[in-house]
Amino acid sequence: MATMIIEGERVGASSGETYQVMNPATGEVVDHVPKGGADDVDRAARAASKAQQPWARLAPAERARILHKAADHMLSQVEEIAPVLTAEQGKTILESRIEARRFGENIAWFADLADKIHGDYVSLPDTTTYGLVLRKPIGVTGAIVPWNFPLTLAANKVAPAIAAGNAVVLKPSSTTPLATLRCIEALIEGGLPEGVVNVVLGPDTGESIVTHPLIRKVALTGSTPTGKKVMAAAASHLKKVVLELGGSDPCIVLDDANVEEAAKAISVGRFFNCGQACLAIKRLYVQDRVYDALLEKLIERARRLKPGDGMKRDSRMGPMHTAGQRAEVEAQVQDALDRGAKVVFGGGRPQGAEYDSGNFINPTILVDVPDDSRMVTEEVFGPALPVMRIKDLDEALGRANNSPFGLGSSIWTSSMKAAHRAVQELEAGYTWVNALQIAHDELPFGGTKESGFGKEHGLEAFHQYTEQKSVVYGLV
Ligand code: NAD
Repeated sequence: MATMIIEGERVGASSGETYQVMNPATGEVVDHVPKGGADDVDRAARAASKAQQPWARLAPAERARILHKAADHMLSQVEEIAPVLTAEQGKTILESRIEARRFGENIAWFADLADKIHGDYVSLPDTTTYGLVLRKPIGVTGAIVPWNFPLTLAANKVAPAIAAGNAVVLKPSSTTPLATLRCIEALIEGGLPEGVVNVVLGPDTGESIVTHPLIRKVALTGSTPTGKKVMAAAASHLKKVVLELGGSDPCIVLDDANVEEAAKAISVGRFFNCGQACLAIKRLYVQDRVYDALLEKLIERARRLKPGDGMKRDSRMGPMHTAGQRAEVEAQVQDALDRGAKVVFGGGRPQGAEYDSGNFINPTILVDVPDDSRMVTEEVFGPALPVMRIKDLDEALGRANNSPFGLGSSIWTSSMKAAHRAVQELEAGYTWVNALQIAHDELPFGGTKESGFGKEHGLEAFHQYTEQKSVVYGLV
């Protein structure tokens, strides 16, 4: 049975309760895990608080060295961790390997910044004084993670937090705790001091993290409704929050685009991780002249995406993570069909004995999806793509921005002028121009509008785990 990790110790829930983690492809039990509660969050917050000062006071170069060594050790275990991720999440083993590697690489990327915390010297009006602006660690940080990319999204919070000298209480999604535990165990085996990262499990521990007095900041990746609840709960403690929430990313393809490359990127952008990605392309707007050609290429690519158990060699798309998640996507597709949309590829569930026990769904492409259908107004967190015909860039930008979300966006065109306009006008935290929609370590990532605020990745994320302090030095 898996355990939580508090102060380096492997512990059960103080209540003694456990729950099961299920395999979305087979319906089998993967493991039993402790069902932690408020008492366990309290234990973890105290452990983090105890570890905080010694960790923050370490020489930054020493912190960097420890983190690199821990990351190297974790990276040596990717082959053991990846199947655990596939078993609990459902994604293909190839996707799991990429994600497990990204965890270690992310820790290493921020480790490089640990000894590069820079402040400012500021001259003051009185020449007998001068000012400094220091950056200090914030203190114990809570990290709350969803189930779609359990490792990537944990690392996005843990890596900058610990590199900047903070201790962490980490809560994975209750349905995907196992690979995360393996990664944190590997970091500790690789030399990360005990108590610097503590892991609590259980469906309701997020609420206790947000309200615990020792936790000074909370970073959440989750749905927009959860983000609103977390912000409201954090407000009563004036706690800092970073909210990485839902998205409904538009992609625009103009007549002058490289259709082959666009189709390749859109296919990955919509169907990677069985469509369960915040940054997935969820609304596609295509100009008249390339509409048919692009649709044909997208269908050709979707045909190759054989659903199946992520551990099987020929599976190109794993199952949906839960039956409830699949039912939600099916209801959104049905709503579009009821309003006059047509399925041009896929639809429904794959048939056959190998699919009987899992949450499988076919990759699906729809046309004639009206703007008031749920597939356009809501986030579609699964492998269904609505393709909309547009006459020009004006129409595309208007419809793309007509959404409460503002996470990612992309455009395919060979016109500098059109690209420039899209970059300026698309309401989103990221715009890709003729490029695959992936988040890079080097660039700040985060949403606008109801997709949240605050950044992960980049120097900005690192700085957001520090607080500025102004100092005046008198020279008398
Ligand atoms: P979710 O909001 O249901 O849960 C996310 C995490 O928050 C889980 O660990 C959950 O236990 C916890 N949680 C739930 N209610 C809470 C509360 N009241 N207080 C504190 N914690 C609480 O999301 P999910 O279904 O696990 O993940 C899918 C969602 O995440 C999608 O909307 C997706 O777009 C979003 N997401 C966003 C990004 C991004 O970077 N913007 C990345 C990936 C996923």
